[in-house]
Amino acid sequence: MAHLLIVEDDELLRDGLSAQLMQAGHRIDTAADGEQALERLQNDAFEGVVLDLGLPKLDGLTVLRRLRLRLPALPVLILTARDGIEDRVEGLNAGADDYLTKPFNRDELLARLQSMLRRASLPAFGPAAPPPPPATGSLRVDPVLPRAWLGNEAIELTQREWSLLDLLVRHSGQVVSREDVLAVWQSEPGEAGGVASNALEVYVHRLRRKLAGSTLNIRNIRGLGYLLESASAP
Ligand code: CA
Repeated sequence: MAHLLIVEDDELLRDGLSAQLMQAGHRIDTAADGEQALERLQNDAFEGVVLDLGLPKLDGLTVLRRLRLRLPALPVLILTARDGIEDRVEGLNAGADDYLTKPFNRDELLARLQSMLRRASLPAFGPAAPPPPPATGSLRVDPVLPRAWLGNEAIELTQREWSLLDLLVRHSGQVVSREDVLAVWQSEPGEAGGVASNALEVYVHRLRRKLAGSTLNIRNIRGLGYLLESASAP
């Protein structure tokens, strides 16, 4: 018996699954869209999630990525459309433990769910945690949202500062050119190009201040670009 969350916008399917899983002895909560799902996950502790990927308000993949940040070990089984091979791959990459293709056999769902829960309850054989977000020193950058942490402390970042930091972290140890940064900024929704090159200096300066107190420093490599370096690097 486990406390499970079923996230499915199709009411018939949701009710059917709930009834079946309750009959199997589980405690069930449901959510009908992505936002509701995150809300439920925030307010309650679950031992497993059945997550439809096609959801209103916030799609299932986004829900999965967000919940993984906080709950790296929570078993999640995703439900995907028959032709959604890319969704399936993306879902597994985003940290789903298993998937079923719609329409699925209810008994198979139950069997997969049981085995997923069993694996999760055996620490030595538990599902592999998703790869940790890129880390440098004690810095962690959220791979999706404009957020980052230094140790346990959250750093307040604007979208542009976050993109810059994310780029530097993903290429830490390498020089990131000014053109690379500007290209990323210009590709962002809502950023209608025209980012002045000298604005970059301002963002780098702000980011440096936000990293002050850490071992990280953004070095200006004259004529080339920027390099994220860690003072404590071996
Ligand atoms: Ca759906």
